[in-house]
Amino acid sequence: AQDGVSEVRVAMTSEKKGRRLIAVGSGKGGVGKSTVAANLALALKALGFRVGLVDADIYGPSQPRLMATEGQRPQAEDKKLIPIMSPHGIPMLSMGHLAKPGQAIAWRGPMAGNALGQIIDADWGDADLLIADLPPGTGDVQLSMIQKQKPAGAVIVSTPQDLALMDATRAMDLFAQAGVPIIGLVENMAGYECPHCGEVSDPFGAGGVQAAANVMGHDFLGRIPLTLAIRTASDAGQPPAAGDGAEAAAFHAIAARIAE
Ligand code: ADP
Repeated sequence: AQDGVSEVRVAMTSEKKGRRLIAVGSGKGGVGKSTVAANLALALKALGFRVGLVDADIYGPSQPRLMATEGQRPQAEDKKLIPIMSPHGIPMLSMGHLAKPGQAIAWRGPMAGNALGQIIDADWGDADLLIADLPPGTGDVQLSMIQKQKPAGAVIVSTPQDLALMDATRAMDLFAQAGVPIIGLVENMAGYECPHCGEVSDPFGAGGVQAAANVMGHDFLGRIPLTLAIRTASDAGQPPAAGDGAEAAAFHAIAARIAE
């Protein structure tokens, strides 16, 4: 794993103890950023990295649901939070674990930054890679998080349609402003295979993210199809990357490109 880590294509920046923070961002919500972050965490673990998962999405923390740790509260030791272990062996902390269950999350900027700081400074043990699911969009909250936590690189998730892509471009500008290298782009919901007839259609268009990556000179990391299996497995707290179906393969291929 140690060799693999040195090969992650992100510059070593100010990461503590050699631990790298990789941000997963998107220009808008609902494009599958959290789904991609959870499955990449699992796929990178399968490649030998010691992965921790940070859910920094203050507006809609969905990692506890995705990783089946909903309702759990982290313990603290020596004023440090102890990450919660997911059933899939990924230590994780979410803004959702810090809020009371069902409580509306109305963090103000400084409070959110503080809570996020505690999550990132938690006792991550020997984790060498922290995958951070960021809030969607390009507001001040996101910018100050990025500036303060200094991710070593960012993975951008977008659906193929124009509007989502324009928003993704803005998100990339935000990372660029903060000096965070873009590791690459992931196209999600890229094609829909009808479970009945097998025909593939493209509700959100196809290939747009790859084309945009080419124009902007960024790596295209791969595409994830829109499937019922991904949606139902995710809702059930069983990320597809933990299994071995066709969906898992798509996530594992993207993780392999990140580690290339
Ligand atoms: P975001 O973090 O960008 O807001 P989520 O990861 O929460 O998006 O995904 C939004 C919804 O879309 C969830 O219900 C999720 O299960 C579903 N979803 C995400 N990606 C896919 C996919 N490739 N196929 C089917 N459903 C998906």
